[in-house]
Amino acid sequence: MPEIQRRKTATVRIGNVRVGSEAPVVVQSMTNTDTANIPGTIQQVAALAAAGSELVRVTVNNDEAAKAVPHIVEGLAKLGVDVPIIGDFHYNGHQLLKKYPGCAQSLAKYRINPGNVSIGRKDDDNFRTMIECAVENQKPVRIGVNWGSLDQALLTKMMDENSRRAEPLDARDVMMEAMCRSALDSAAAAERYGLRHDQIIISGKVSGVRDLIDVYRMLATRCDYPLHLGLTEAGMGMKGIVASAAGLAPLLLEGIGDTIRVSLTPKPNGDRTEEVLTAQQILQSLSIRSFSPQVTACPGCGRTTSTYFQELAQDIQGYLRTSMPVWRQRYPGVEELKLAVMGCVVNGPGESKHANIGISLPGTFEDPVAPVYVDGRLMTTLRGDSIVAEFKKILDEYVNNRYGSASETEQLVEVH
Ligand code: SF4
Repeated sequence: MPEIQRRKTATVRIGNVRVGSEAPVVVQSMTNTDTANIPGTIQQVAALAAAGSELVRVTVNNDEAAKAVPHIVEGLAKLGVDVPIIGDFHYNGHQLLKKYPGCAQSLAKYRINPGNVSIGRKDDDNFRTMIECAVENQKPVRIGVNWGSLDQALLTKMMDENSRRAEPLDARDVMMEAMCRSALDSAAAAERYGLRHDQIIISGKVSGVRDLIDVYRMLATRCDYPLHLGLTEAGMGMKGIVASAAGLAPLLLEGIGDTIRVSLTPKPNGDRTEEVLTAQQILQSLSIRSFSPQVTACPGCGRTTSTYFQELAQDIQGYLRTSMPVWRQRYPGVEELKLAVMGCVVNGPGESKHANIGISLPGTFEDPVAPVYVDGRLMTTLRGDSIVAEFKKILDEYVNNRYGSASETEQLVEVH
């Protein structure tokens, strides 16, 4: 597979995580708890980190939230969770960072939205104050432009300039240009106020897929700051997942993007970790990073009149998900494992041969047997009611033999 040429960027350190072209593309997420709810926020951050989020952002919108931040970081440390916590600031970030030094110190990065601090107005004191806090505490920042809160003074000025042109540009083009200018002018201002070049990440989020691709292509050609990619307000369920994948994939394949977030709207009381798993799946589908063994399953058709193979595919997927927290520690490299669960012999053996382990279930009118291929060779043929249990046993043995260290393999052999 041809390697993706990442765009060359500076490398920004956020706590123990590096972001930039020298590092793998980082998955991040954001809580939706009230940050002032310390136990609830700790619990959600821990769940996001356990799902694989490498950075977690929390909103810091008022005094209670700012006061809670050091306790949240402390509580997570007691649980052994060292994921860097990023503070998301709007409007009053300058006041909160000044008033609560414990908050400013314990956060690993600040997100600043130049559209709702003072950039572009007569003076930029609020923005400058936030940058000075970042410099004082040696914290990186993300200059996070969002088209829903774009610096209105800048946009108005650019629209006016455009209307005076002999051949005015399309309003959309002016908006895209304003987003880039807002991000890049703010980053330049941050450097003037003392932040190092390698302490700045930028983003330009929009909610339209093609707008997203265009704005990030523009940003990518105009700077070497690492880029945080994400479709803002992606939406719920399938719509949000598909739109995020459609927007992020072309950019990632062009080597654009150093950290990603998928902004899914969960169902009421839904699982927030879905956004982490989606971000991981986007990267894994593009062969950029591996997070979990992949199961190739055929879609099924008229040859499979029962739901048996769908249940097996789901069962195996669930088994992998529950096993992964332990496997990740015990079996380095196991995330590269590939499985195939196929509904019949038409494509089953072929697909199975391309996987580390593959099983072909009997289709309608086929013999009630399930050939299992391991590393491209027919290993055994399963029959009867215990096909699922036997297949999992083969999987466990394969994982242990291939990814277990010698001493662990010996121990397991002795135990059994
Ligand atoms: S592998 Fe068999 S069951 Fe699955 S889609 Fe193809 S023909 Fe249908």
